[in-house]
Amino acid sequence: MHDMTLRDLIGHRRLTTLLARAIERESLPPTLLFAGPSGVGKWAVARATAQTVNCLDPVKTDLRQGSGGQAAGDLAVDACGKCRSCDRVARGVHVDVMMLEPDERASIKIDLVREVLAKTGYRPFEGRKRVVLIREADTLEPQSQNALLKSLEEPPPGTMFILTTSVPGVLLPTVRSRCMRLRFGRLTSAEVASALVRDHDYSDVDARGAAPLAGGSLGQALALIDNDLSMFRELAMGLLQHTAGRADSQSRVQAASALHSGGGSSKKERTREDVAIVLRMMASMLRDLEAINSGADRAVLANPLLTGDLENLARAYSGDRARVAFGAVDRALTALERNAGTKVVTEWLAVQM
Ligand SMILES: [Zn+2]
Repeated sequence: MHDMTLRDLIGHRRLTTLLARAIERESLPPTLLFAGPSGVGKWAVARATAQTVNCLDPVKTDLRQGSGGQAAGDLAVDACGKCRSCDRVARGVHVDVMMLEPDERASIKIDLVREVLAKTGYRPFEGRKRVVLIREADTLEPQSQNALLKSLEEPPPGTMFILTTSVPGVLLPTVRSRCMRLRFGRLTSAEVASALVRDHDYSDVDARGAAPLAGGSLGQALALIDNDLSMFRELAMGLLQHTAGRADSQSRVQAASALHSGGGSSKKERTREDVAIVLRMMASMLRDLEAINSGADRAVLANPLLTGDLENLARAYSGDRARVAFGAVDRALTALERNAGTKVVTEWLAVQM
């Protein structure tokens, strides 16, 4: 993926605006921790920030453009994206912008950390700022984190650090407490869809199909989009069909087992993420059921492949029922995000539906 300037990034407008303003005022804290779900663009924002602080020809831009209603003149600084410095950051060869990323064994070795820290002892060579970017900082071995402590506490002149992580709790408390934390939220489905189309060349139809299943993570959407989702779709539809007929609790609990255990001969439990995908599909089908029941045009359905099945279910989910069931799915998803067990969650949901 090519690098993007702050204005090109999709989502996180509040945070990118905050960063741009701080860069402009030269008040950006020298140690930042970008925390938030994986696949939402923390690393892209970190790189764009490094680009902006070192750009030779920074531009003024309205970062809020497109999200509407910002007064004229409310501009913030951003990288030009074209100068020699921007180009080098984009290609990962800027001598003053150092990137530490986990190796194939998902760890950042102490030797690499020491190497980078040794370089921070000198003034920046060609840039205005030396920026050390650490991706998935939770993969730093404890030894490496300890090696970083002194630099985080008192960054060498002209040097700043940006750490990104989806599990800030795994970092040593001493590392966490030395960084100013920015919390990244999930992207909206619309943001995920537009990133899929604009930056990854997917069709509008494919993007709109995958985005609502991805839990606000572009990374998750990319992992999903080329997969065959028919199995998940069948599981979701299966549970809706089973619960439509007012089956008793015991048979519902049995139906839920198709969701949480792999089924068939494999005794393997499905992962939390897989179960979440099924639940997001159910949510999307329940929305469609509501649409059908309110007489909406079939062209607006999110699951056009299932129009026939959905029409057959519409009566069972009339009145308030689709909306109530949607609320239950939503609560189940929240519980999964908070690490509740898949068995407990799906059985609860099957009884609630
Ligand atoms: Zn530039």
